Amino acid sequence: MEEPPTSHSQPVRDVCDYDLLFDCVHCGLCAEACPTYVATRREMDSPRGRIYLMKSLAEGKLQLDDDAVRHLDLCLGCRGCETACPSGVHYGQLIEGARAFVERNHRRGVFDRLKRSTVSAIFPYPSRMRAVLAPLIVVDRLGLRPALRAILPRSFRDWLDLLPPLGARHPLAPDLHVASADNAPTVVVHHGCVAQVLANSENLNSERMLAAAGYRVEHLEETVCCGALDLHSGNSARALEFARANVRALKGSGADAIVSAASGCSTAIAEYGELLKHDAELAADARAVAGKVKDLSTLLLAAKWTPVREFRCTVTYHDACHLAHGLGIREAPRKLLASIPGVRLVELTESDLCCGSAGSYNLTEPEMARELGRRKVDNIVATGADYVVLANPGCEFQIAAELKRRNSKTRAIHLADFLALVANNDRIR
Ligand code: SF4
Ligand code: SF4
Repeated sequence: MEEPPTSHSQPVRDVCDYDLLFDCVHCGLCAEACPTYVATRREMDSPRGRIYLMKSLAEGKLQLDDDAVRHLDLCLGCRGCETACPSGVHYGQLIEGARAFVERNHRRGVFDRLKRSTVSAIFPYPSRMRAVLAPLIVVDRLGLRPALRAILPRSFRDWLDLLPPLGARHPLAPDLHVASADNAPTVVVHHGCVAQVLANSENLNSERMLAAAGYRVEHLEETVCCGALDLHSGNSARALEFARANVRALKGSGADAIVSAASGCSTAIAEYGELLKHDAELAADARAVAGKVKDLSTLLLAAKWTPVREFRCTVTYHDACHLAHGLGIREAPRKLLASIPGVRLVELTESDLCCGSAGSYNLTEPEMARELGRRKVDNIVATGADYVVLANPGCEFQIAAELKRRNSKTRAIHLADFLALVANNDRIR
């Protein structure tokens, strides 16, 4: 392993945690797990290329010009490279640091700034999001979305296509509170920001399935955005504010387990210990909260939840990046799905290659996101499945938009909503 230069021999710029760069031994074993490398075959759009770029920036051998920023921007932050890396490179930490460096030191073009500041000003705040979407609810009720789409410029049309139908989308599971034992664990579902506006059924069905499995479910109003959107876009100051607010609320809730319907949020909360390690007041609480993050399928399996109904269909499963690469959860959702009588589970080719959603990536980098979305849906369609089940609303919207473009009969559905369909013995038509 290459030794980092000492601070005497090599002054470094504050691009990222410089010492972490030396974990990379440049073997290239991560390349085929990287969606942008797979799509472009360009070394500079591979994890190794980006690590080299960060090191060159840190050592002042490269200027932070538009080209360098482009290669960093194109990274999805999916962490496929972390799973593939035999040397344990903490790529997620590196790219988050580099993104903050870019935001501090680079002036973007007007249109790019406008897009990014719109996302940043609206998405983390549910009340702002609801206000912006209110006219669209009326448009959807009147069935005028196709007419609106026809008159919008291309970039706004792409954004509109990613929006699920507004209003009630998925049926809720029956509200079956199994009498939980006195010592039953308490679970809090973190409702998030975008998720509580656009994916409320995913949140509510997570709560209902957990209650049906015998957990005590506590509804917590005070949590805010998990901070992932900010971490992925270089706004670490606000991410820290959100993390502190969530740690205080979650600590006070007395939760034994914390679940999020959005796997990106779960991973962000699971990393609060690292994020707040220098916070004199909250470091220990942040570690405790982070250690309680679980996912829905793991909890349901642990409670030996079994579906009471048969549900005949073919299902394939897409690994949301942060669930698979962030939390390392792949088997539990598959096991749960395979345990449902009547469900035929077929494996999806490249199931853990990012679909292009990646937080707000499909809004800021629409071309690469569309290319990855098409690749993902090619693989989904090849399975012949009735449903593609996943554990992240962002993937759901991204894949659903591409399925709709193709008039496909396959439906993209969150695991919690799928379990509600099974509980109701219903079908999406
Ligand atoms: S985070 Fe994803 S897109 Fe970025 S370098 Fe790693 S594998 Fe590639
Ligand atoms: S990130 Fe890991 S897998 Fe990729 S080149 Fe570096 S050491 Fe090899």
